[in-house]
Amino acid sequence: MINAPRGTRDILPGQTSLWKHVIHTCEQAAVSLSFSEIRVPTFEDVALFQRSLGEGTDIIDKELFLVRGRHTEGEQYALRPEGTAGIVRAYIQHGMRTLPQPVRLYSILNLFRYERPQRGRYREHVQFDIEQFGSKDPSADAWVILTQWTALTRLGLGDAQLSLNSLGTTEEREFFREQLIAYFKPLQEELSEDSKRRLSSNPLRILDSKDPLDQPYLPNAPHLIDSLGNESRHHLDTVCTYLKTWGIAYTIDPFLVRGLDYYCQTCFEWSIPSEAGRPLALGGGGRYDSLLPALGGPDSGAVGAGLGLDRLVDLLEERGWQEPSSEVPKLAIVEEKSNKEAAAALIPQLVSQNIALWTDFSRGSLSSQLKAAAKEGCTYALFISEQGLQLKDLRRGAQQTVRLEEVKDAII
Ligand code: AMP
Repeated sequence: MINAPRGTRDILPGQTSLWKHVIHTCEQAAVSLSFSEIRVPTFEDVALFQRSLGEGTDIIDKELFLVRGRHTEGEQYALRPEGTAGIVRAYIQHGMRTLPQPVRLYSILNLFRYERPQRGRYREHVQFDIEQFGSKDPSADAWVILTQWTALTRLGLGDAQLSLNSLGTTEEREFFREQLIAYFKPLQEELSEDSKRRLSSNPLRILDSKDPLDQPYLPNAPHLIDSLGNESRHHLDTVCTYLKTWGIAYTIDPFLVRGLDYYCQTCFEWSIPSEAGRPLALGGGGRYDSLLPALGGPDSGAVGAGLGLDRLVDLLEERGWQEPSSEVPKLAIVEEKSNKEAAAALIPQLVSQNIALWTDFSRGSLSSQLKAAAKEGCTYALFISEQGLQLKDLRRGAQQTVRLEEVKDAII
């Protein structure tokens, strides 16, 4: 027997309603804050991810799913491991810089990372992604945070905590990188293997390490936030003022980083405290002004963020989410063997009236069909008798004669 690939999951019929609820809530939050939907390909030229995420990141070095076509010698694609690169590409490729700015885009994306599968960490996962282009103003950062907050609170996850940090300007980040290397270099031998590697490739990521070997050295490491210049300080303070005005609680976390080279200024993360100790990350984002020009676009500012929908779904399931009872009445068409063809002939007209239908003519007796219909959640059953068409209310037991065109009104 062939099973689903490791790290992927099937979403079974009983689980899809929660998924739809989560996706719908995120989409409504985005639309209510002026984001428009964009859909981009599931795979892109591998160079796009290499250029936007940068060599030396885990996503590029270890986690890319590479795709090679049969007849595409020299071309190489990758399944998208994150959403920003493809959307930035589309913004540039379709000349969206000429539209009124800011351009606000959202997408629900399946993402692929070859990670070690565990609960909450899958090789295919889904994110609610938002990107806002064409503004370097701190209000744009705050707007993206507001959109994620709106989705989380509407989902009943208002207890999610927001951590915030600033990565400063590109120059401040570069200077900070040197400071970090100077601090960690003498400690190199004591650090975890990952951090040793990151010391040369991506030292900011060491601050983000959860490895116990690194923990003793983190509290005394330099904080970028302490040495921000006026411009960056003002940017962060203004974002914070917006959040306070909107009643969005946050804490400043000087250890929060986005390891990708193009990030600057604001970065943030949403998490839920968990009993296991380590908070569960739900999503995050930040400003990445220099990615657009690096990919051939305008230097006009960009900020984006993603929420991990698998984790939101798992969390809501753990908290006992109940599907609201369906308001749509479902009609069963039941019939004895001898009359099945006549009953089947009713179906097209009922379908065209947009009535939700259930049948199982393979069952022999009327009573066994009625029992199964009730189990399926049908509220009414329709059958043909000598007195004409009969409509039976399965909850109250009442029965009436109806004409076909009256059925819709009778069951509402
Ligand atoms: P990232 O794109 O790595 O910043 O992740 C954003 C959010 O997506 C995380 O906070 C998680 O909620 C979710 N996420 C990231 N990777 C995975 C994964 N492999 N499986 C499930 N959810 C993930």
